[in-house]
Amino acid sequence: MSNRRFRIMKHRKCKYIFVTGGVLSGVGKGITAASIGSILKAKGYKVTMQKCDPYLNVDAGLLNPVEHGECYVTADGMETDLDLGHYERFTGIKTTRENSVTTGRIYLSVIEKERRGDFLGKTIQVVPHITDEIKHRIKLKASKEDLDFVITEIGGTIGDIESQPFLEAIRQLRWELGQENALNIHLTYVPFLAAAGELKTKPTQTSVKQLQGLGIQPEVLILRSEHELSDDLRSKVAHFCNVDLKSVIQSQDLPSIYEVPVNMLKQGLDEVILKKMGLPIGKQPELGAWREFLDRRKKATKVVKIALVGKYGLQDAYKSILESLAHAGTYNDRKVETVFVSSEDINKENVEVKLEGFSGIVIGPGFGQRGINGKLIAAEYARTHNKPTFGICLGMQMMVVEFARNVLGFKDADSSEMNPDTSHNVIDMMEEQKKVTNLGGTMRLGLYGCKLKENSKVFEAYGNISEVQERHRHRYEFNSKYKKDFENAGMQCTGVNSESELVEIVEIPSLKWYIGTQFHPEYSSTVLKPHPLFMSFIKACI
Ligand code: GLN
Repeated sequence: MSNRRFRIMKHRKCKYIFVTGGVLSGVGKGITAASIGSILKAKGYKVTMQKCDPYLNVDAGLLNPVEHGECYVTADGMETDLDLGHYERFTGIKTTRENSVTTGRIYLSVIEKERRGDFLGKTIQVVPHITDEIKHRIKLKASKEDLDFVITEIGGTIGDIESQPFLEAIRQLRWELGQENALNIHLTYVPFLAAAGELKTKPTQTSVKQLQGLGIQPEVLILRSEHELSDDLRSKVAHFCNVDLKSVIQSQDLPSIYEVPVNMLKQGLDEVILKKMGLPIGKQPELGAWREFLDRRKKATKVVKIALVGKYGLQDAYKSILESLAHAGTYNDRKVETVFVSSEDINKENVEVKLEGFSGIVIGPGFGQRGINGKLIAAEYARTHNKPTFGICLGMQMMVVEFARNVLGFKDADSSEMNPDTSHNVIDMMEEQKKVTNLGGTMRLGLYGCKLKENSKVFEAYGNISEVQERHRHRYEFNSKYKKDFENAGMQCTGVNSESELVEIVEIPSLKWYIGTQFHPEYSSTVLKPHPLFMSFIKACI
């Protein structure tokens, strides 16, 4: 048998699950999709998860975090929606650029093809050209890797104008792939009318009717609600929506998002999906380590308070940092309470009052001048009061600037991002960035190797390994010209890029825990594998 034939035979047949949402946005489509992914993974399947975002941006890199939440970065350097973070944290899979699709990216690639002349003579239309491109992107990952399942979450809510092409694409795919190879799961919201004391199913019925009008029959319904749904109510939904009762799953509000997979498993969602897709049902996964995490989380009642100093006043803007702190808290048997402290409100006079009650401080990532002074004052306070402090990306850069100003005595030291005319540009634009003119997708992005200095705190935190891989998203760097000055004065460069001398980590060894990383460790902390730096930071805070 030729090698090629053997390869083709070995290739698994991939199945597709589409997750759509109805009634209103923000009911937890990302968490639902991630939970389905984690259940199938626990069953032993090779799973990947994908997000289709209806917005016209080519990627999430230039979206305002206050409007849209954090920009998550994949290992291969794609700037994506924060839902990819949920996918990784729940399933432990590593996402790449194929896992994120936006309308902007679809149109860009279709228009580029049109300009190249690929469609010569044809009129380019939403159907079939845009929908074909969407279908191609949905299937792309499985054409490169052996996968059992691709779970695709369609962003937006049924009824949105922007998501129509995506819905048309999944309608076609379901038809082309057949019942056992494609499955539609629809998440809706069941509101509780307090005055009537009743849960209302009408919005769910309407949403399903809208989907049916587009030619999509959901095969599984997941009903999000604040209260428990009775069998009667589920039965009514099943009856009105052409879905069997077992496939109407309820997703009640739970104390933690990480309880969602367990709750779905309890209702037999694994069985429902596998049966519909013609796969053996097998034993229910035990989710041993997962349940242990939940158990430990519940038992961890002692609180450790962390201040997150940043300027983006929206919880979702620092999603991965919050989750990483929470993971590390659980594994240290503590409940982490992270309080956002706006860097714009911090000044010399109030810094003590603002920060003294915390066991540790995180100085967050960010861009631009706004809120910088507060970050510098927080760094100085933390350094001079020996508070465990973790600076991430811009946070690390501000630790460096503060040290240069107040310890090295370079009074005008700055990052050239904030002051291009400073005579002490201790943080400077990276050489390869100087010729960049476009802002979208042009930073230093994704995974790079970092060599750790032996006997440093980070070396110990990572478990005495000499090299790690971490994800990046920045345009400026530590100016190596000043390395000696810093090291002589007590701030050590304990991690450098494996190929260049680019400084990735600084720390002050004489302090309890004062570490800044140019990279973003928060992108790679998962429920079952908390990040070693967050673990070590929380330990120090305790
Ligand atoms: N603005 C800084 C840079 O571009 C830091 C970026 C960040 O915090 N992600 O280098």
